[in-house]
Amino acid sequence: MTQELRQQLIDTALAMNASGLNQGASGNLSVRYGDGFLITPSGMDYAGLAIADIVWMDFDGTTQGIRKPSSEWRFHAAIYKHHAGAKAVLHAHPVSCSTLACLGKGIPAFHYMIAIAGGKDIRCADYATFGTSELSENVIRALQDRKACLMAHHGLTCFEKDLPRALALAIEVEHLATVYSRILAIGEADILTDSEMEKVLKKFSSYGLQDG
Ligand SMILES: [Zn+2]
Repeated sequence: MTQELRQQLIDTALAMNASGLNQGASGNLSVRYGDGFLITPSGMDYAGLAIADIVWMDFDGTTQGIRKPSSEWRFHAAIYKHHAGAKAVLHAHPVSCSTLACLGKGIPAFHYMIAIAGGKDIRCADYATFGTSELSENVIRALQDRKACLMAHHGLTCFEKDLPRALALAIEVEHLATVYSRILAIGEADILTDSEMEKVLKKFSSYGLQDG
């Protein structure tokens, strides 16, 4: 099982870069396993990753493996601790999400698909230095009742119930960020009302598109 899951983690990391969401080794990816999680190693190009390069760690940071875990392991651990439904966590620096995040902007309900992240907007977590507990706290706050958030001066983080869904969610959020950035460049966004978004969220929930 762990071999298969390690390979799926590598395959999803490669797919993340192939999708254009991420460049080089700046992002990171993890999947819940046992009383901890498997995570991509620090600073290694995904193209050369072997199964033995994947690190297992518990939620307190004790590692098993020959590599050092991604420097962002703290917020991965925090997400697994705070969200029982989180089975896979993806973090990347996609162009449009990063553009909005560098302006300190989240994404309002300019499009009904915002509901894919679990609520009426996608928040932007406050800035803190990468790898710190402070950044984990900011990310957890922005992810309250949500499965995705932007991170100020940094990028995007999201979680899902498996790796393929986490990648699909990240791609959708990046698409929404791209459209919202274009809207901001030429005008002002028209935001859907709270009651309309409640309807959409209810529909998403009954269609099984989100599991809360
Ligand atoms: Zn990062």
